[in-house]
Amino acid sequence: MTQVIVDADKCEGCGECVDNCPADVFEMQDDKAVVVNEEECMECESCVEVCEAGAITLEMD
Ligand code: SF4
Ligand code: SF4
Repeated sequence: MTQVIVDADKCEGCGECVDNCPADVFEMQDDKAVVVNEEECMECESCVEVCEAGAITLEMD
């Protein structure tokens, strides 16, 4: 299964990943993006592209 990883130290809380993920994988909690729905990820990589902080990585099998 694909792992979606947010580096909380790098996350700037912009919310772009929440707005752009078609599978609602992310949620904001205390101004940080957290992964709440990893099993729905369809590996589109939109989150990686929109995260200017470079906080998101995908680990695909
Ligand atoms: S796009 Fe990146 S910086 Fe913005 S909330 Fe998501 S993980 Fe954080
Ligand atoms: S790769 Fe696509 S579906 Fe998966 S978490 Fe990122 S934006 Fe959402």
